[in-house]
Amino acid sequence: MGLCQLKPRRRSRGPHLAPPDGLSGPLGRGQVRRLMGESDHWRVHPGKDLHLGQIDAGSAPGAPGDRIATESVLPSLQTELSELQARLWAEGRRSLLVVLQGLDAAGKDGTIKHVFLGVNPLATRAVAFKEPTPDEASHDFLWRVHAHCPAAGQIGIFNRSHYEDVVAVRVNRLAEPEVWQQRYGLINAFESILAHGGTTTIKIYLHISPEEQLRRLDERRERPDKRWKLRPADWDDRKHWDEYQVAYQDALKRTSTQIAPWYVVPADHKWYRNWAVSRILIDALTRMDPHYPG
Ligand code: AMP
Ligand code: MG
Repeated sequence: MGLCQLKPRRRSRGPHLAPPDGLSGPLGRGQVRRLMGESDHWRVHPGKDLHLGQIDAGSAPGAPGDRIATESVLPSLQTELSELQARLWAEGRRSLLVVLQGLDAAGKDGTIKHVFLGVNPLATRAVAFKEPTPDEASHDFLWRVHAHCPAAGQIGIFNRSHYEDVVAVRVNRLAEPEVWQQRYGLINAFESILAHGGTTTIKIYLHISPEEQLRRLDERRERPDKRWKLRPADWDDRKHWDEYQVAYQDALKRTSTQIAPWYVVPADHKWYRNWAVSRILIDALTRMDPHYPG
């Protein structure tokens, strides 16, 4: 994944403002209801309250079975995703942006590695956002993000994103409240611009428990093959667990929209997380219903 080879566009891109939820095209009513239902376990509904503390990070709603059974369906989901991606790429008009957020060790890297195993690297653009560089920080907070959004036909994967600018920035007091508070509205406007240009945005919060995070951070400390992932700041961030939960809760509530919904995926079990994220993405692409140009 990474730098892409841009394909010539077949038709001009956008405006593509889809009906609510991106539902369009030839899907029948029953099919639409079924698809919405499948991702509904995790969806944050606009206007409804959200309490992350009440969602069991170790739960597995909707899973096809236990760990073994759920893991056994993953290869077929990888194939399904790759087939949908082939159509999106061939169509060359629209794109899917997948935003992954979560606390340290929530499993963002692992999700990308497992869920996107079968995708075409040419048609994929993955980027991890770190603390802004001086150059990035000298622009508005969306500047660096917009530059990495997927081109027509691509799936874009964000490991962290502009949501750090309302979460990490808030918890670490890197900006005044008036500044980060205004960003919810700016983010919603930005994601509308993406939709207008043909990009469907799907945002996934990987929800882990403090106990599971501790176990994973300890494992990173102990194992040489994992130690490189551990930053001293991870332990400091952990001390602000409750503040992060509140910041995420507010961000998810304020920015889960019809065109760019949030999904909260219980992520203590990696096997469940991989299955749930795969399902959400397959549902989103199925709703987009990309076609081979004919
Ligand atoms: P990691 O993803 O574990 O490599 O860590 C990256 C770090 O960069 C995390 O602590 C993020 O919170 C931080 N980060 C990413 N984007 C921003 C941002 N816009 N402002 C402040 N911190 C950020
Ligand atoms: Mg980290």
